[in-house]
Amino acid sequence: MARSVVPPSGVKSFLFSFLFVLIAVVLTIAIKPFFSGRAPLVFFAIAVTLAAAYGGTVAGLFATALSIGAALLLFQDRVFSLVVAQSAYTLFAVLGIAIALVVGKLRQLNARLTATKDQLEGANRELKLANEKLAQQSDVLWHSNEELQRFAYGLAHDLHNPLRSIGALTDLLVARNAGRLDESSKECGRMISDGVKRMETMIRNLLDYAAAAGGGDDGEVVTESKSVVDRVLEDLRFAIETSGTIVKVGALPAVCVNEAHLVQVFSNLIGNAIKYRGALKPEVQISASDQGADWLFSVKDNGIGLDMQYAKDIFGMFKRLHNSSGYEGSGVGLALCKVVIQRNSGHIWVESQPGKGSTFFFTLPKPSAELRDTSRSFLTARP
Ligand code: ADP
Repeated sequence: MARSVVPPSGVKSFLFSFLFVLIAVVLTIAIKPFFSGRAPLVFFAIAVTLAAAYGGTVAGLFATALSIGAALLLFQDRVFSLVVAQSAYTLFAVLGIAIALVVGKLRQLNARLTATKDQLEGANRELKLANEKLAQQSDVLWHSNEELQRFAYGLAHDLHNPLRSIGALTDLLVARNAGRLDESSKECGRMISDGVKRMETMIRNLLDYAAAAGGGDDGEVVTESKSVVDRVLEDLRFAIETSGTIVKVGALPAVCVNEAHLVQVFSNLIGNAIKYRGALKPEVQISASDQGADWLFSVKDNGIGLDMQYAKDIFGMFKRLHNSSGYEGSGVGLALCKVVIQRNSGHIWVESQPGKGSTFFFTLPKPSAELRDTSRSFLTARP
């Protein structure tokens, strides 16, 4: 609970000053015989200090005046201030005013300090509460997200077998009744088979996405991006050769990301660069540049390009721009790339112009020198 610093009311502080001086008078009278009948002003000095500490500068000045009045009235010239006998009243007046001012100021400062401390404590408590609430909410969100991913994964997995059966049975039905079916029925059969294949691809992509989205970052792993790109180009050899694509690969570094995940990223980006080709002979350039703590990768093509107003949308799930232009796809590839890159503390974006091609950029953290050395010795030690 916040403490509030309420200064004592004026009347109360004056009453206390009076009380302190009264006690000083009594004590001075009591001690006088020990100083050959002369009154030391030390108790009045203490009374002024107490009055200023309790009621502030004004109360301290009031106690000083009151002390001088009382001492003049009761002890006349038979006083001494501390040890000095001469000018005792003047010395005491100066001392009393100084004490009142200094202690009063100290009291003010202390009050302000306490108030600031209370405010800080209050803000701290509110921050702590907000933090706890946020942690709870993110916990709930994390769990529901995990549930959702598990549900999507299970659903996609369960759909796989019935779909495959539909496709296989349709093909069998058409093959067995080839003699009896007319052309339009056969066409229907083919359409069912194509639809099933498309759905199977979509489900496979969804399963890949769910696997990439689950868990935290890839942790302390080092992957040579050059060997990943070589592997992807090998996988895409048929598409590259049939489309006549020229692929140029620059020097590529080692990065901190799981190898299978990096394969998915390059497969989607290079695959798209070939798929969304235009009238020109397709060309794809893959390169990397040093950005300090990160490596910046780019996959550049001379394909159909896209309108930059959709540059963010295309990284969303099932977001497709060239759906009606005969380019097949599920709209999951770039969403998967985004999830992999973001999970590994990177960013991914596109720069493009319709008809002029696109460049997809992404960043990935550099492995520490220590991690690189460990992975190198592991690789050389491998049989
Ligand atoms: P898919 O290719 O299966 O449709 P993606 O998630 O890989 O799904 O891509 C989303 C959309 O972004 C694509 O449908 C396409 O419109 C656009 N796109 C992706 N890559 C390129 C590219 N290299 N050139 C032009 N458009 C692209």
